[in-house]
Amino acid sequence: MHAYIFNIQGFSIHDGPGIRTTVFFQGCPLECIWCHNAEGIPQYFEKESGENEMSFPGLKKYTLEGLTEEIMKDKVFYDESGGGVSFSGGEPLMQAEFLIEILKKMKYLQIHTVVDTSGYAPEKIFSEVASLADLLLFDLKIIDNDLHIKYTGKDNFQVIKNLEYLLKQKIPFRIRIPLINEITATDKSLHDIISLLKDNSRIPIDLLPYHPLGEAKSNKLWDSGKWPKLSAPDDERLKEICQMFETNGFNVRVGG
Ligand code: SF4
Repeated sequence: MHAYIFNIQGFSIHDGPGIRTTVFFQGCPLECIWCHNAEGIPQYFEKESGENEMSFPGLKKYTLEGLTEEIMKDKVFYDESGGGVSFSGGEPLMQAEFLIEILKKMKYLQIHTVVDTSGYAPEKIFSEVASLADLLLFDLKIIDNDLHIKYTGKDNFQVIKNLEYLLKQKIPFRIRIPLINEITATDKSLHDIISLLKDNSRIPIDLLPYHPLGEAKSNKLWDSGKWPKLSAPDDERLKEICQMFETNGFNVRVGG
C-alpha cells in the first residue's frame, strides 16, 4: 500500500494544535478558483509538465512504513508542544485506504492527528476517517449550490450531508471558511452558513482570508479573466464578519 504525497512540511503551526508535521496528499475532486495548493489538483500536473500527474517530479510515493518514519522524526517536538501530524492536500480522503491505515498507525503510536478535508467524499469513508482522527478541520465554502458549482466545479450535496453527519456526532471538529471578496465573503454567503449551523454555535469557526500565495500556480489552471480579481476582506470588513458570527453566539478566530 502506498500514497502519493506532494509535500511534507515540518514545524507547521497552522493546521492544528502545537507543532505539527503537515502531510499534503495528492488529488482533489474540487477545483476551487482560490486554491493555493494547486499541486494537489491533478490538472495542475498536466498543465505544468505536460505529463501524467503521477510522473510529476515533485510527487513522492510513500509506503505506510516510510511515511510513519518521516512523521516520527519530529516526535520530540509534538510531545513538547502538544502537537502531532496533520493530513491535508489536495483532499486526503481521495486516498482513503492509505489515510485510514496511517490514522490507525498514529493512534497506536499515540500521535495526535488532524485531518483537513473539504468534506467531499462518500459518507462511509468520511465517517470512518472522522471516527479515527483526533480533530477534523472541515472546510465549508459556499452553501448556495449553483455558486458552489460555479467556483469549485462540483455540487455540494455530499459536503452538506457529511457536515450534517458530523453535527450529530461527538467528534471534535472546527469549521474553516475561506474568505474571498465577492465570492465567499458576501453577507448572503456568510448568512447561509450561519443559518445552516444555527443550532450548533458550540462549533468553533476559523475564518481564513484569501492569501495570494498560490496565485501564480492557480493562474496556470484557470482562466483568471473569467472571475472577479481574487482578494481578501480588509480589516474593517473582517471585523464585521467576526461580529456577524459572534452575535449569533459563535466563537470565531481569524486564521487557522
Ligand atoms: S478543496 Fe482545497 S485543495 Fe481542493 S481545490 Fe479546493 S482549496 Fe484546493
